[in-house]
Amino acid sequence: MLGCRVVLNLSLMKRPAAKERATQRSASRLAHRASGPSRNYLKTRVRGQRLYEAAFILAIVELTRRLHQAYPQAYDKQAVEWLLPQNTLTANQKEFVLNAMTRASTLLDNDRCANFINALVQRAAEVAGRAGAYVSTNGSFGFDKATAQWLYYDAINKGRVTASGKSGISGTNTTYGTTDPNNSHRVSWNNEFFGLSADEAALHSLHEALHQIRYFDDQTLAGAASFVDSHGQRQTSYAEGAAGVDPASRDLNTYIRRYCSP
Ligand SMILES: [Zn+2]
Repeated sequence: MLGCRVVLNLSLMKRPAAKERATQRSASRLAHRASGPSRNYLKTRVRGQRLYEAAFILAIVELTRRLHQAYPQAYDKQAVEWLLPQNTLTANQKEFVLNAMTRASTLLDNDRCANFINALVQRAAEVAGRAGAYVSTNGSFGFDKATAQWLYYDAINKGRVTASGKSGISGTNTTYGTTDPNNSHRVSWNNEFFGLSADEAALHSLHEALHQIRYFDDQTLAGAASFVDSHGQRQTSYAEGAAGVDPASRDLNTYIRRYCSP
């Protein structure tokens, strides 16, 4: 059984006719005030910045520890005797993977996409019943799109994003990538992924990045996406196990496309 698959039906390749684009961008600014003598201001500010960076890194480390260790038995019921093909990325493939995630980050700068993904992550955590476990101890930042982004980049840096070396085409469906929750959330991209446009590769990267968060399988994510999309009016249920993976994965792609396509 596949843990999580990106299955894109060809009919889903069409973008919604009415595209919406949010142009507003949020900007946060920190006002610095120097209270001491002016000649010490620069030093103080540099030291403050370093302290801020150190605190941020510590918070990231704590979040990662919680995400990866809090519930080690999460996917036992899905354990299967099946291994993803995992080849180390070539230099060109790694560049493609990184460019796709850079593009995904740009898409996430759009408020419409960012708000949807943030709400999706929060709802999925609620459904999994572990929202509290995903919040940093010092409360310096929440559990949102940045969590998925950072975990996916971490997976790339640690060699857990791989290439299958195989085609993902099966009948009319194409599986671009697969994440294996039973094996350190490794991602395996099929050949077709490396032929996608920048935007398509970005949308699929976003999908797999969400799977980097423990418990966030296709059923959980697609159900949460339906909840957010309907403003809390409904939550689609999917069959557990293999039967529910493909329909949930397709629906999740539809939602991601609806809110995050440029
Ligand atoms: Zn998936």
